[in-house]
Amino acid sequence: MKGFEYLQEELDQMKEQGTFRKLVPLESEQGSKVVIDGREVIQLSSNNYLGLTSHPRLRKAAIEATEKYGAGTGSVRTIAGTFSMHEELERNLAKFKHTEASLVFQSGFTTNQGVLSSILTSEDVVISDALNHASIIDGIRLTKAARKVYKHVDMEDLERALKECSDYRVRLIVTDGVFSMDGNIAPLPQIVELAEKYDALIMVDDAHASGVLGENGRGTVNHFGLDGRVHIQVGTLSKAIGVLGGYVASTQTLIDYLIHKGRPFLFSTSHPPAVTAACIEAINVLLEEPELIEKLWDNAKFFKDGLTKLGFDTGKSETPVTPVIVGDEKKCHQFSDKLLEYGVFAQGIAFPTVSKGQARVRTIVTAQHSKEELQEALNLFEKAAKELNIL
Ligand code: PMP
Repeated sequence: MKGFEYLQEELDQMKEQGTFRKLVPLESEQGSKVVIDGREVIQLSSNNYLGLTSHPRLRKAAIEATEKYGAGTGSVRTIAGTFSMHEELERNLAKFKHTEASLVFQSGFTTNQGVLSSILTSEDVVISDALNHASIIDGIRLTKAARKVYKHVDMEDLERALKECSDYRVRLIVTDGVFSMDGNIAPLPQIVELAEKYDALIMVDDAHASGVLGENGRGTVNHFGLDGRVHIQVGTLSKAIGVLGGYVASTQTLIDYLIHKGRPFLFSTSHPPAVTAACIEAINVLLEEPELIEKLWDNAKFFKDGLTKLGFDTGKSETPVTPVIVGDEKKCHQFSDKLLEYGVFAQGIAFPTVSKGQARVRTIVTAQHSKEELQEALNLFEKAAKELNIL
């Protein structure tokens, strides 16, 4: 069919530049190893930090919920699609995050969109870290609020922005808790100090911190001992939690408001019973099996230290998200392809997900990896990098 030649032209350019990517289908469940193209390879690309996607307790909860309540919910939450288990999950999440209330959205992406697009008007300003996740950027695009972007984790620049914004009704500072491409942690104590000095609200996206940082994985706010001083915590149920969805944890007022105004919440069907039941069980696992988080950090340290010793540039990573920075886009994808050929699945990430010239193979180890698997991965990183003159 004719009509999309203009799109094909752009795709052809991407092919020429070596940035055109094919999807990589997995033929097994998610785990420390996965099957790709009939071959078992070490998985270093998932966000399955704790291995919960295939945890027996989550599987069982999902199966039992499907048997009891069926496959779908048949409605949006506000009409006929709220099951008691949706509210149970929200009560448990609020308790877990030490907040008054919480609300679950269809994904982390739609949570950011839903929150940002509904709570700000043209009387307000949103002040955002330059490296915030795409869903925050898109959420901000949907508001009529004024926008300011401060240099990545630069507190002087944030203060400058706050000083310029005294006339707005609401100043909302938004930051990722853990930055998804670099694995560094936002300087939340300083952000809270500035917010309190300049009377601003704070929203933290803990997608990569929930289940990873803080007591039992409560996130960055808890990690820094700032419970009660950050107004909005959002996060995802699809990474360490192992299932699907997003949540916002905050005051009852904010949650009541989002039930009435959060557009993805209002206009998109609620999660199936299997998803909700598995998320409830995931929070129980976080509370009852803290050894998973210890194993995750132990593995992350082992792998990061190994990469550094080999001479790789792992940037500013402080968490299990560990980039191996290559720089050149084409070389980065060649590196990733070679790693896959040798038996390691570690995706290359290039512009526009990261800045031009900052292409990297992003690795995330999980609690499921054995030290042997990680050592084997390190050996293969070294071998592939030497062949491509990256090391
Ligand atoms: N925020 C951040 C910081 C993320 O890394 C992601 C996941 N890519 C999201 C939000 C979106 O979460 P989800 O995959 O649940 O939509």
